[in-house]
Amino acid sequence: AALREGYERFDPRAYLRNNYLPPRADFSSEEFVVPWKLRCLAETFASGEIRGRTLIDVGSGPTIYQLLSACDHFEEIVATDYLAVNREELGRWARGEPGAFDWSPFIQHVCKIEGRGEPWQDKERRLRERLRRILPIDVHRPEPLGAPLRPPADALLSAFCLEAVSPDRAAFVRALAHVGNLLRPGGHALLLGALGESFYLAGPARLPVVPLEESDVREALAAAGFALRELRSSVM
Ligand code: SAH
Repeated sequence: AALREGYERFDPRAYLRNNYLPPRADFSSEEFVVPWKLRCLAETFASGEIRGRTLIDVGSGPTIYQLLSACDHFEEIVATDYLAVNREELGRWARGEPGAFDWSPFIQHVCKIEGRGEPWQDKERRLRERLRRILPIDVHRPEPLGAPLRPPADALLSAFCLEAVSPDRAAFVRALAHVGNLLRPGGHALLLGALGESFYLAGPARLPVVPLEESDVREALAAAGFALRELRSSVM
């Protein structure tokens, strides 16, 4: 209940400003977290192993950076978030409406690191075309979308969501198992997140985060029925 109340004050524009504009969105060095995240995603999808019809992104928030490398490998991307304000912010970007957040520095950077010489506008167009559904979700429900995803997702992505909406480690494990139900057997899950974080800010909202250690994540994945293929971390 306390978490839900916190999220009622979540301000998407303030969240975007804190995390996805300078100084945090600094592309000048791979030491910074934003280019690090984008590099991890680009390298992971470059293998070509993670692909299929549908990719579901859990707790998309107001952001699309996490989908830029992914979108080349799926016919449809399903974005999700608990908050209507975030789904509306995403919808504004997907429809190219005025006032939408400007993700072009991210798109340009991803095209650069992918190294295929693709014009960034082509990637932007492709993601907009494939981002067909933006659905409400609650990872604390065994059926997070309220109904099964049919057909189930071929891959699942989730960035900075599960630890940021779980009051404790047990809730984190349960949430992981719930979202795992959206994925087809043998499908891949790509999780990005923070270790050792206790809170973050989004305007007037101060959101608690369950501080996790690497071992907690390993144990949670095993408990939720996932086999861990690779774990990378970077110290901020
Ligand atoms: N993926 C984005 C946003 C992460 S912030 C990024 O990488 O920046 C965490 C997100 O979790 C917020 O958008 C918030 O609205 C969402 N959220 C809050 N409660 C949730 C719940 N119960 N189930 C799913 N998502 C939730």
